[in-house]
Amino acid sequence: MSKRLLAVLAPLLLVAGTATACGTSSADASGKVDVVAAFYPLQYVTEQVGGDRVSVTNLVKPGAEPHDLELSPKQVADITDADLAVYLNGFQPEVDEAIADHATDRSVDAAKVQPLSDGYVPLEEGELHQDEKGKDPHIWLDPTRLAAIADVVANRLGEVDADHKAEYAANARTLRGTLDALDTEYKAGLANCQQKTIVVSHNAFGYLANRYGLTQVAITGLTPEDEPSAGRLAEVTTFARTNKVKTIFFETLVSPKVAETLADEVGAKAEVLDPLEGLEDGSKDDYVSVMRSNLTTLRGALACS
Ligand SMILES: [Zn+2]
Repeated sequence: MSKRLLAVLAPLLLVAGTATACGTSSADASGKVDVVAAFYPLQYVTEQVGGDRVSVTNLVKPGAEPHDLELSPKQVADITDADLAVYLNGFQPEVDEAIADHATDRSVDAAKVQPLSDGYVPLEEGELHQDEKGKDPHIWLDPTRLAAIADVVANRLGEVDADHKAEYAANARTLRGTLDALDTEYKAGLANCQQKTIVVSHNAFGYLANRYGLTQVAITGLTPEDEPSAGRLAEVTTFARTNKVKTIFFETLVSPKVAETLADEVGAKAEVLDPLEGLEDGSKDDYVSVMRSNLTTLRGALACS
């Protein structure tokens, strides 16, 4: 390095060193901020915003379905010890409880970022009414909502680790750029489609449907483990026949049996539309790549031009 360059750099290095020494960082021995994320999309957001500064633990193991997650004592301890816990109140009751008991002052509730929609999707007055109690938690399937969550996570990380506040904010802006671009692709990709209705296995796609002008008809409720009633199954079968639905969507993390049976019954294909509640074990995908392949699937199934 030239002497001249050193002369320019030295004061900068000194400033950087001083800032670290006087910082208010609660980073652990590894120098990283420990964050617990309640399920995959929140892990994704936290990793994108935190970059190398954070170590993120997902409470759900790869390939598992996150609704009704049961926490081990070790996981409750992880929540208790974490610098920050990122969760979505109303989605995983045991996580809600552990955070209420041990981490209220060190948590970000993604459900508070923007108001949640009601958990029912009336298709038409008096027809296929899905009367579900409670709010719909599946906000991450609207990329603009995920960007809003990222901003809040960045703010909280900036409080926990004040030395790197600007870095977290910059990462959140970059992520917003990516998610806005994804939103634009969805808008353009689903603007001209012959079909507008998606028949899905659980009621996860309400926010995606609302944002991009689709109508969701779900075989089961807000939780994938709910068994559909015979009456509900008959209703959806009639609907799919009447409306000449060509594709019934199923999911990666739950059994496709009901969706496949229904598809057989009405002569439709069964295809994967991933609600992104988690990644499959060993998956190299991330939120954006799965959302892109969902878009390709939707465009094919709905005959979009
Ligand atoms: Zn779900």
